[in-house]
Amino acid sequence: MGLIPDNVIDEVLTRADIESVVNRYVLLKRQGTNLWGLCPFHSEKTASFSVNPSKGIYKCFGCGKGGNAINFIMEIEHLSYPEAIRHLGALYGVEIPETGYSGDSVQKEAKNRVKDILKEAAKFYYKSFNDPEIGRPAREYASKRGLSKQTLDHFGIGYCPMGRPFLYDILKEKGYKDDELLNSGIFKPSLKNNKPYDLFRGRLMFPIFDSFGTIIAFGGRALGDEKPKYLNSPDSIVYNKQNHLYAMNFARKEQSTQLIVVEGYMDAIAMHAAGFKNTVAALGTSFTDSQLKLCSRHAKDEIIFFFDADNAGQKAALRAIKMMMDYLKKLTGINIRIRIAKVPDGKDPDEYIKTNGAEKFKEVVRNALYVEDYLLERAKEDNTDPETGVLDRGRYQEDICKYGSWMTDEIKMSRMAGVAAPLLGATQQAVMSQMQRYQQIEDKKQEQQDTRALERERREEIGRRNSASEFEDYPDPEEPVEVGEQSSKVPEFRKVNDSATKEEIDLFAYALSLGSALSDTKNIDKTDIIRPDDFSGDTIRELVRIFLNIFDGRNETLFARMSDYFSRLTINGMPAEDVMLKAVDAADKCGNVKIKSDMYLALLCKVRTAVINREEERLMNMRANADSSEKSKIDEVMRRLSDYKLSLQNKIGEL
Ligand SMILES: [Zn+2]
Repeated sequence: MGLIPDNVIDEVLTRADIESVVNRYVLLKRQGTNLWGLCPFHSEKTASFSVNPSKGIYKCFGCGKGGNAINFIMEIEHLSYPEAIRHLGALYGVEIPETGYSGDSVQKEAKNRVKDILKEAAKFYYKSFNDPEIGRPAREYASKRGLSKQTLDHFGIGYCPMGRPFLYDILKEKGYKDDELLNSGIFKPSLKNNKPYDLFRGRLMFPIFDSFGTIIAFGGRALGDEKPKYLNSPDSIVYNKQNHLYAMNFARKEQSTQLIVVEGYMDAIAMHAAGFKNTVAALGTSFTDSQLKLCSRHAKDEIIFFFDADNAGQKAALRAIKMMMDYLKKLTGINIRIRIAKVPDGKDPDEYIKTNGAEKFKEVVRNALYVEDYLLERAKEDNTDPETGVLDRGRYQEDICKYGSWMTDEIKMSRMAGVAAPLLGATQQAVMSQMQRYQQIEDKKQEQQDTRALERERREEIGRRNSASEFEDYPDPEEPVEVGEQSSKVPEFRKVNDSATKEEIDLFAYALSLGSALSDTKNIDKTDIIRPDDFSGDTIRELVRIFLNIFDGRNETLFARMSDYFSRLTINGMPAEDVMLKAVDAADKCGNVKIKSDMYLALLCKVRTAVINREEERLMNMRANADSSEKSKIDEVMRRLSDYKLSLQNKIGEL
């Protein structure tokens, strides 16, 4: 199935210790064996988010989220499982083999086909742009915009011709099918005969890359006054505009402590050409949550935003600032400064650089305002009558208290209050208290929102867990669990048996708690290692099977590895990680390995006795309807079972 190999995942989990992974986002304090901090996944004022370094896991007792370092990255960065492994691999220097990027090979194949199409398209656009005849109008436009040959080549800018040759014909010749072409997002079916046609005819073409430099979409700029001025590929199987920033593939290579964020990709290109290679651009829409997260992941010290000077741009600015501040409030471990730059005279960065040069523009970047200063200025400007210069004090108070409540720390808030107080004819303390009240109201609202969202998520999650399809993702299951009939086409609704007795859970927990000691034959015989057959429910059997697959007698990341699977399943209708964590914590309390081994063996005997009891009951029922030869066979089996049960009881006695 092409999964990332187990030993690579182990390596990632060993190097990317949970404490340092979480510490990048959350400020943690040690208390006992665990570390505690404010949960980054829900709003809270007292820490209920814990990290257990020895088990390699995190758990929030407020919202219930938990797992290992990979799960944490998946959750906080909105990445898929393989993406999260890759992300950690890059941070902690573990090389992840290219094979098996995705568990779903059909989907992966379709994605690769689309990426190949986009690559072919980029080549074609580039060739057309540089063709002496075909590309002339595009080249004329580019030179009018002041784009140098070097810049054009660097960004792979091309041209989609108005007439022949058609990209469609070229791709068809290379063997791509119509539906693959439509999947790529750069073709549209014609209304006449459904035949795909080039979406971008007559436009200057900008390849849009992901952070790693793969082409995932295109933007097309009209050469004249045609509408729309900018046309972008729609979202596709390889592209979701909400999750990408233009030029991030170049900006991330800069390793700059600062990231500059602009609204349009023409601005980004102009800034790169002027030497600001740490610039990225949004992709046609206002900033999204995941774009801001992407920014904070790639900016070490500060993010400088440029917003358009028009009304829409200024509205977008407030929205983005609020989102960014909310995000930073939750991530107490991230300390990024937010600054807002203003281009003089309401110009675009592109225009300004062209008229005033790169040196002058450096000043604009340097003069970017700290977020609190920007908001102070905004509140004053927005509420001052441009004719009379009179400040509307009521509205100013509203705005300033609202903006103050967005601040991530008290110093910023107090600074804002200090500047606003004289304008309001109030004391700094009074303004500050009002800001704090706003913050409390806002926090409560946020908390309620979070709680509702979490409850919904939780319900969906429990429904998703234990669906039969989950089992299909497991690494080399020797004997896959047979669940339900094969006919069902909606696996989400197929339920597996997730029941487990208290003794079964405890037994499994002691095995997990013993870890490497389980393979120490001084205390525990080889035949006394748990087997899937010892357990009655599908889920716990499957978990034990996975445990035995991973367990090699010295695996340090055993619990972290298992928590991956726990997080997808339920036991007795409860999240499996909750059930197992509680049981393992209890087992851990028993510090002495000898005593722990004895407890384990006693539980094993009890559980195995229960298996025999169930088997005996089944045989008794069979015996009732059996003929005499069958009866004697059954009796023989029952005698053997009875002997075995006796030996188990003796064993318990010896402990
Ligand atoms: Zn939480």
